[in-house]
Amino acid sequence: MKETRETFVIAPGNWLGMLGGGQLGRMFCHAAQSMGYKVAVLEPAAQCPAGVVADLHIQAAYDDAQALDRLADLCAAVTTEFENVPAQSLARLQQYVRVSPDPRCVAIAQDRISEKTFLAEAGVPVAAHAAIRNDEDLSQLDHRLFPGILKSSRMGYDGKGQVRVNSVDDAHSAWKSMGGVPCVLEAFVPLVSEVSVVVARDVSGNAVAYHPSTNEHRDGILAISSVDSLAGGTARHEARAQELAKEIAHALNYVGVLCVEFFVLDDGSLVANEMAPRPHNSGHYSIDACISSQFEQQARVMAGQPLGDPSCLCPSVMVNILGDVWFNGQDELREPDWSRVLQVPGAKLHLYGKSDARKGRKMGHVTVLGPTISEAQGRARQVADALGIRWTN
Ligand code: AMP
Repeated sequence: MKETRETFVIAPGNWLGMLGGGQLGRMFCHAAQSMGYKVAVLEPAAQCPAGVVADLHIQAAYDDAQALDRLADLCAAVTTEFENVPAQSLARLQQYVRVSPDPRCVAIAQDRISEKTFLAEAGVPVAAHAAIRNDEDLSQLDHRLFPGILKSSRMGYDGKGQVRVNSVDDAHSAWKSMGGVPCVLEAFVPLVSEVSVVVARDVSGNAVAYHPSTNEHRDGILAISSVDSLAGGTARHEARAQELAKEIAHALNYVGVLCVEFFVLDDGSLVANEMAPRPHNSGHYSIDACISSQFEQQARVMAGQPLGDPSCLCPSVMVNILGDVWFNGQDELREPDWSRVLQVPGAKLHLYGKSDARKGRKMGHVTVLGPTISEAQGRARQVADALGIRWTN
């Protein structure tokens, strides 16, 4: 392949750029720095999880032209850690440097209507749905979409901007209460579980998929992810999820790390729910349980290096730590008993360096490794008990 701006290899010692200063940026810094790269983070907040570990924190708004140009001067490749990054900022950077994922892919994932349209056109099964942009769309709704969920098309994450609806009238008032913004109405599907797959794809089209994780959400936020990498081969729906996630990455001509979330239905079939154009909470297990983590892949792809090995070395269960753990049902803040967590065999604690614990805020996670999934679950239960997190497995 002829060497171009998109394909040349960026050697360790050089700078990689990150738009966004959250925990995903922080874990990217750790992975990139361990391979010898320097990382510059652009983020408006003064104290942020990635800013405090980056080699350089450019403190500016995401759409600050001067700051973007400074990032582009320093770094030959830039990525992002959240999908609501302004598309124009990525487009500006792309004039000068390699940007992965492509702003076009980020734009598709930023908008549920375009995401659903893209997936359906790519032949990926999705829940029956309709786009709602005006009163006329509402009046034409097919009754088979009820009961359903009305989801705002943009800026929705972790279950935010979603209302359950049982009729056209319900949908109408829910849509009005959401300010009449563009929405997707999705039929409620009989899901038995939720799985997600992280895929890394390089500029030449090589792709690797991680072992799927089975996810439990609470209040719309990921709570527990389990990965049974020894389940006597991959379960049928898991193998299919990996195939579909790779197909989606290819159809997007995606370069970078992509996560696709699926619903597993009662007949074992899958529907794709949504995708995140970045490493994902459900892939955090890869830091401790896999040969190359999802963050290492992100750095490798950006730098034009070969993809790493996603093989999973042992079963794991990830327990998400929200700010609620500091309150534990009370109004007063209390530091969790970290020693009790750290004494659990196989427990790997990751805290994101956020000083201000708030309910619902992602503060960290614990990945618990075990020789079998049931041992990992037993240990994860001890971690959950130590932190006052409800255990339902
Ligand atoms: P989302 O923000 O789209 O990931 O939705 C948040 C959660 O709501 C999902 O993790 C599911 O548990 C549930 N959910 C979303 N859409 C549907 C659907 N069409 N049918 C059943 N459950 C759903």
